[in-house]
Amino acid sequence: MVIHVVGAGIAGSAAALALHGVGAEVVVHEAHPDTSTDAGAFLTLAENGMRALQAIGADEAVRRASAPLRTMHVADGTGAELASRPLGEPGGPGFRYLTRARMCAVLQDEVRRRGIPLRHGERLVATAPDEDGISAAFADGARARGDLLIGADGLRSIVRTQLDPGAAPPRYVGSQIFYGATPGTPPDVPTDRFHFVRGGVAFGYIATEREGTWWFARVIGPELDPDELATGGWAAHLGDLLADEPFPRAIVRAADRVLVTNAYDLANVRVWHRERAVIIGDAAHAASPATGQGASMALEDAVALAEAIRDAEGIGAALTAYEEHRRGPVEANTAASARM
Ligand SMILES: Cc1cc2nc3c(=O)[nH]c(=O)nc-3n(C[C@H](O)[C@H](O)[C@H](O)COP(=O)(O)OP(=O)(O)OC[C@H]3O[C@@H](n4cnc5c(N)ncnc54)[C@H](O)[C@@H]3O)c2cc1C
Repeated sequence: MVIHVVGAGIAGSAAALALHGVGAEVVVHEAHPDTSTDAGAFLTLAENGMRALQAIGADEAVRRASAPLRTMHVADGTGAELASRPLGEPGGPGFRYLTRARMCAVLQDEVRRRGIPLRHGERLVATAPDEDGISAAFADGARARGDLLIGADGLRSIVRTQLDPGAAPPRYVGSQIFYGATPGTPPDVPTDRFHFVRGGVAFGYIATEREGTWWFARVIGPELDPDELATGGWAAHLGDLLADEPFPRAIVRAADRVLVTNAYDLANVRVWHRERAVIIGDAAHAASPATGQGASMALEDAVALAEAIRDAEGIGAALTAYEEHRRGPVEANTAASARM
């Protein structure tokens, strides 16, 4: 079976590895000209994500590129601790953290190492199913045909709109997310802790071993337009919003990198598959970042789809089984994240 995967982010790279593992011939097409890794924030991998990585044999590579997170601590705006709890189950694979860029690079390296073709600079523009296959057209004029096409092309998925031209666009969830890196770390803070600071602005940080303090802040407010997103001065703006919370304020004010994004989600996507095409990861379901499950759910999708293709009688039955297995859990998570 020849399978074309569109997108070499976390979902697409993991799907390529999973499908290769069940004997499919896979080709990956990525729009980004070289790496697809230019989104510079960090992410956490929960235990479900680590289990999915184990299933595709990529957990060791990701472990080498990441650091463990063992506990979650909640503090007030002065930095005084209010509560703490362990992350993960006893004997489980544990939580990890790393930059999204590093995560994509590790998975893409693994794809290449296993001899799976990964073509950069191929932006899908259209798909056309026929009697026993599906064709794909790319912006540079390239074409491909196979038995199945997997849309792992993220929040603004072309494959989703090819499956359902009336598909609802992502929804702005009412908060702006700031990600930053500040040189140095607060004194005596271990690197395996996720700290959450309660206050008017939700703030979280990790003191990394060698890369300073990684943090995020969630601010309720209107959707920022592209011009606003491109402007600088965010550290000063956030510092003003944190005027009553001296601890996070000091971290934010000393940042040397700040990135801002609008938070979107994508709930209850009507069509996940039709004929010879299917969507996975953020293309099919995207949660706002609150539960920190986006990457882990994308990894689980990849494994579930490959297992369905291995076990079901024919592509139609496999895609139905994949959706039955995944729709419930991901929609529950998207709803929980929106409530948070
Ligand atoms: C700033 C930020 C922070 C996040 N923090 C966390 C976190 O802490 N924990 C967590 O679990 N999740 C987090 N997430 C979410 C997580 O990154 C995503 O949920 C996860 O990466 C889903 O991956 P994906 O592969 O489905 O989509 P994406 O990562 O969006 O990848 C899609 C890929 O498809 C490519 N593509 C798009 N269109 C086309 C096309 N037409 N043709 C070819 N290729 C195309 C893109 O270039 C990209 O490489 C965060 C996301 C962001 C943006």
